[in-house]
Amino acid sequence: MSEIILGILGGGQLGSMLSVAAKKLNIKTVIYSDDQDSPAQNFCDEFIFGEYKDTNQILNFIKKVTVVTYEFENIPFETLNEINKLKTVFPKPSINRLIQHRLAEKDFVNKLNIRTTRYVSVEKKSDLDSLDDFLPGILKTTTMGYDGKGQYIIKNLDEINNLKIDFSKEYILEKLVKLKKEISVIITRFSNNKYEIYEPIENTHEDQILRKSKIPADINIKLIEQSKEWSIQISEELKYIGTLCVEFFIDRNDNLYVNEIAPRVHNSGHLTINAFNVSQFENHVRAVCSLEQIPLKKLHNAEMINLIGEQIKTYRENSDLKDNQFFFDYLKREIKDKRKMGHLTILR
Ligand code: ADP
Ligand code: MG
Repeated sequence: MSEIILGILGGGQLGSMLSVAAKKLNIKTVIYSDDQDSPAQNFCDEFIFGEYKDTNQILNFIKKVTVVTYEFENIPFETLNEINKLKTVFPKPSINRLIQHRLAEKDFVNKLNIRTTRYVSVEKKSDLDSLDDFLPGILKTTTMGYDGKGQYIIKNLDEINNLKIDFSKEYILEKLVKLKKEISVIITRFSNNKYEIYEPIENTHEDQILRKSKIPADINIKLIEQSKEWSIQISEELKYIGTLCVEFFIDRNDNLYVNEIAPRVHNSGHLTINAFNVSQFENHVRAVCSLEQIPLKKLHNAEMINLIGEQIKTYRENSDLKDNQFFFDYLKREIKDKRKMGHLTILR
């Protein structure tokens, strides 16, 4: 077989971990990012810096690779579409366009008869006046949000005037769910009815940022089955190729809701590196590069802790880890508040 070179758009920690997984499979990676300081340049074979709309640089990238994927969803659709004319992009650009828009994403999920939170589109400030029914709620930008960025919790209408909300952007207002738990399901789809699915992962968020993930999730069998079934349905409907993550809410009455879909490998799946025979990253590379599908086997229970901002420091200074502990440093140049700097996985 001729050599495969995997192109990855996006140069964060997910790109790094994809590169590491690819290397293990003898696949070279070329990463393209609009951030000159991208941590993934420490892990890939070649790094290209450029804006996502820089046609010349993108063309230069396309020439070097066999197949293209992406590690974060906020890449202009036009860029993915143009690339796809010359080299295959997995997952398909149309999937990315659908999922990067919170309204389109939720409409799609509801059409499958899968429950989401109640939501409504908000185009201007005065729209909110009649939306009492959705409060307490959470106002989110329809595009470009991550780690709780662009989100406002709104308890009552009076509060809105005190929040500095930029109404030149489009929003979605979601009714707040009284959360009992959050889980995610990661699935890698290879082709029709061929997929590998990981068991649900239980997630804890702090300030809308993922703090911890663990398996097994402490939920009943019905929720385990339902969340897996919905994830399979979503990935089949999208005719998805690669790794996808579905984030779920569970309310106090054990109702399951899809929160959002990530058309990529996911932070909650970092524990798959150490806890399974094949990680979410390796599975993604296998699927998008049309390599062999290997039956998934769990090796350990596990917990993953995100190291955010200054929390990385203790681990950088003291690498005295036990045999069941695995520390990952994303090698980001600058420590910033709320920035994911690394993680620790503990096998149980
Ligand atoms: P992001 O794209 O930033 O991950 P999410 O929509 O997943 O945005 O929101 C981040 C977190 O905020 C969720 O994991 C959850 O903890 C909380 N959250 C978001 N929407 C709701 C909601 N409708 N009800 C309750 N909690 C929510
Ligand atoms: Mg989320």
